Amino acid sequence: MSRGYPIDLHTHSLRSDGALSPAELVRRAADRGVRVQALSDHDTLLGVAEAIEAAKPLGVRIVPATELNTESEWGDAHVLAYFVDPADAALEERLRWLRENRGRRVERMVEKLRDLGYAITLERVLEIAQGGALGRPHLAQALFEKGYVPSYDDAFRTVIAKDSPAYVSRVGLTPFEAVALARTHGGVPSLAHPGTVERLEELLPKLVVAGLAGIECFYGEHSPAWTAHCLTLARQHGLIPTGGSDYHGRSEHGADLGAVFIPPETIDLLEARRASR
Ligand SMILES: [Zn+2]
Ligand SMILES: [Zn+2]
Repeated sequence: MSRGYPIDLHTHSLRSDGALSPAELVRRAADRGVRVQALSDHDTLLGVAEAIEAAKPLGVRIVPATELNTESEWGDAHVLAYFVDPADAALEERLRWLRENRGRRVERMVEKLRDLGYAITLERVLEIAQGGALGRPHLAQALFEKGYVPSYDDAFRTVIAKDSPAYVSRVGLTPFEAVALARTHGGVPSLAHPGTVERLEELLPKLVVAGLAGIECFYGEHSPAWTAHCLTLARQHGLIPTGGSDYHGRSEHGADLGAVFIPPETIDLLEARRASR
């Protein structure tokens, strides 16, 4: 069996667009050697309790987290909020609003796809999501099942790509609002996979002012040169280098659990930012 590294700070379950239940995800990560795992489902903390329950007998520590996708001129700026509290009712209210927006967006994309001749149904998309926060991955799965795309990943490049006629942009937070939301609720925000951000060097100092604490330097798709660049940016801006697999359990999206090396001191550094906020 291939072994992973002990820390993974970016994983997705069925509560958003991953393929495994939180408990299955935690057991699989533990099998791979992961000892500290952040469950970072999009716009939800609803899987955290199940993950913690499953992690207990395995001696694994779960860091509650959520990944907030944002909408702005800076492209795909995703913010990981670590150490947020699943019992924080005010935060849950904000996250529920984001999930409802996700639902409306997916509904509109289903309508557009149907108008374009793709015979997929909202019912099937909801079945695929199994109650999780809806997103394009669920549409990709529905299109793939019906044979409209040769692979799940292909759907993102073609039928539901950003420049496709079926695409509907999301209504949501700006990157600054995402960072502020994490901070307001006691979380420690880190910028996820910075390679997807447009004009990163322009955005980063602005996010730091808003309260950004980390930047995801260690990521499966990063080249050694890009990792080194992110580490330089982290040093320049006083950010904690974070990392994770972005495992979804579906096709090639993300690396395997624990497949990305993250320095062991990362957790303490993140916790210290939590205390000194
Ligand atoms: Zn992301
Ligand atoms: Zn992710």
